[in-house]
Amino acid sequence: VTGFEGATVAVLGLGRSGLTTARALRAGGAEPVCWDDNPGARARAEVEGFTCRDLLKSGAFDDVAALVVSPGIPHLYPKPNPVIRAALVAGVPVDNDIGLFFRSVATRGWEQYDQAPRIVAVTGSNGKSTTVALLHHILQEAGRESQLAGNIGRGVLDIDPPGSGGVVVLELSSYQTDLARALTPDVAVFTNLSPDHLDRHAGMGGYFAAKRRLFAEGGPDRAIIGVDEDEGLYLAGQLSEAASDDRVIRISASQKLTGPGWQVFARKGFLSEYRKGRQAASIDLRQMQGLPGAHNHQNACAAYAAARALGLAPRLIEDALASYPGLPHRSQTIASHAGVRYVNDSKATNLDSAAKALGAFENIRWICGGLEKEGGLDALRGQTGKVRKAYVIGREAAGFAMQLDVEAEVCITMAQAVARASAEAEPGDTVLLAPAAASFDQYDNFEQRGEDFIAEVGKLTGADG
Ligand code: ADP
Repeated sequence: VTGFEGATVAVLGLGRSGLTTARALRAGGAEPVCWDDNPGARARAEVEGFTCRDLLKSGAFDDVAALVVSPGIPHLYPKPNPVIRAALVAGVPVDNDIGLFFRSVATRGWEQYDQAPRIVAVTGSNGKSTTVALLHHILQEAGRESQLAGNIGRGVLDIDPPGSGGVVVLELSSYQTDLARALTPDVAVFTNLSPDHLDRHAGMGGYFAAKRRLFAEGGPDRAIIGVDEDEGLYLAGQLSEAASDDRVIRISASQKLTGPGWQVFARKGFLSEYRKGRQAASIDLRQMQGLPGAHNHQNACAAYAAARALGLAPRLIEDALASYPGLPHRSQTIASHAGVRYVNDSKATNLDSAAKALGAFENIRWICGGLEKEGGLDALRGQTGKVRKAYVIGREAAGFAMQLDVEAEVCITMAQAVARASAEAEPGDTVLLAPAAASFDQYDNFEQRGEDFIAEVGKLTGADG
């Protein structure tokens, strides 16, 4: 991190990104002072030689140049964070690691290379990880240097300075875009928008506002925008100077897009690219193993468009799409046993992603439930046409089951849900874990929940197979 030589910089939150931030500040000649409410986290920072300071003590910010906040910490809603408030009262600017990263890049002058490294940033409600992993895969297959960072991969302040022509692919959640003081990617992608994290953003308006900061005035050279929701449609419209403006690439997973601009869309399993009214590519996505379902075709459009914006040829991208292996916990087929397919989509933590998973498979034995998102389950109504039966997990499984419009059995534990679903499954069925809920009532994170599912399925299929 540059720009803070000799200055004291406060770091709030000492998880993975907080510690990386403290190290990067120290490496850049700043003096970090750290805080976390959790004494264990503070102890880990002290082991590394960092000074901890109670940032709520009066005068704590007197000598501080900036406060850097971890993305996991809510800052304004549902209630103002007292430390951030104290910093702001003292007139101290607040930033996060993403903001520091973009400011450092600007001052580090990546332009010195013949071919300046490019930064691609991806945001949206769903499909971010898949899109960035897919783009990273495409770049590597094309022989381009690529680093994956942000919400996935390494922390942004751990990125190695890329070589000439290298690409940094960032996944950015709304938690990261809302506080960053600098957001200047070369290519920015907005996948889609559906309700999530509403408590922290005080509703849909705030949630959308956090995401669209990536496209602010003087923003990216190229903006790739999913226009299947009105928010994306409006954003694309606002960013375009004219209908033929090809700084905006519109993408869709459901409609044929027309006009003289640049567009990439998927329909009936085919991806099409049009530019200046002419078709530039048509790709059959239907047999691509790593990209099942219409939602993944949207991700393919986003990654394809980003790769095109970086100058890659359609044929090269097509080959890379076909060899993409998929990410764990996202529509991942983990076993086939006695004619039944087992799919782990533990990452379906919100209603829209679960609905998309339910659309991608047939004859579904649906394992769902967990910590319910704000707003209830109404949005799932009408999405369960292909579900034969639901098996509900989670501490509040009974309340969850009651809200579903399909037959539902209260199982509470993953072991019970997998046992019941597989006992009742018939050949041709798919046992699908797509919880439509967060995992924190029973697990540390969605990965652990997915691993538990895999282990339970393994026990079954191992035992009698
Ligand atoms: P994110 O990083 O935005 O959470 P992921 O790629 O990890 O996105 O996917 C999260 C969940 O959403 C998975 O359960 C996946 O099946 C589903 N999903 C993936 N892509 C999309 C999409 N384009 N639209 C809706 N749901 C999606």
